[in-house]
Amino acid sequence: MRWNQVLRASVAVVAFALTATACGQQESPGGGSQQPQYPVAENPQFQAGTTMAALAQAGTIRIGTKFEQPLFGLRGLDGQMQGFDVEIGKIIAAGLGIAPDAIKWVEAPSGQREELIKQDKVDLVVATYTINNKRREQISFAGPYYVAGQSLMVKSDNNQITGPDSLRSTRARVCSVQGSASADNVLPYIDPTQLTLFDVYSKCADALRTGQVDVVTTDDSILLGFIDRSNGQFKLAGEPFTDEPYGIGISKGDVAFCEFIDNTLTKAAESGVYTQAWEATAGKVAGKTPKLPKFDPC
Ligand code: GLU
Repeated sequence: MRWNQVLRASVAVVAFALTATACGQQESPGGGSQQPQYPVAENPQFQAGTTMAALAQAGTIRIGTKFEQPLFGLRGLDGQMQGFDVEIGKIIAAGLGIAPDAIKWVEAPSGQREELIKQDKVDLVVATYTINNKRREQISFAGPYYVAGQSLMVKSDNNQITGPDSLRSTRARVCSVQGSASADNVLPYIDPTQLTLFDVYSKCADALRTGQVDVVTTDDSILLGFIDRSNGQFKLAGEPFTDEPYGIGISKGDVAFCEFIDNTLTKAAESGVYTQAWEATAGKVAGKTPKLPKFDPC
């Protein structure tokens, strides 16, 4: 038995207790949570030896997500997780018979996602995580479940920066995040000395606020969350200039787990749960409910 199996087996007892508590809380009147509740599969059966069987038996799952991105992955001051990625994580857990209270949320900054999966620190990553071939050399992806596009965020009174083609001529100081696709994608438009990289986007938003940079670049889905919380200080500049299909990162070559996740997402779209998840989170700011994209082969 590997250490993580031992851990999972021992956590299972705790998880059962947590699940039992969760049920009690849901039944109590005035629980007050506005977060959607998804039906948790009761005693689902999976082929022995699969990741699904191990997780269902453990009764808990470790999900890597962002902790500081409003709309997609945010840990509130009360410790509650919010966002579309969080809801997608809960939907997958529910398919495994795991209630939200039994999920262990692990912070997964952009530059650490592949390592977290490879070192078995998480069972999956749902974290505004673009599917690309460079990452596919190290891990596998289920999905995509959403397609974002990279954009630029500037101060509301900045009318000089109008899109990526204006970055070089204005000598704009650009901020993005280490290990992100956004940092790679913006490079052709700038001199590398114009680029500052942090570990998380909230630090870029702070640097924009204090005038240390002129532009933050990453997916529009993320930028909209910061704009929403900026009291009118920030805006988008220009149109999205890339396609960023968001996948669920899993251990490389785990085809059965990938297929299970894709099936769970398909069912969530059919039952309206996917729409519910969107409307309760990113949809409040980003508007129109997306259609579940066509999946890549597992
Ligand atoms: N979607 C891009 C990526 O996966 C940018 C967002 C992020 O860093 O999470 O790198």
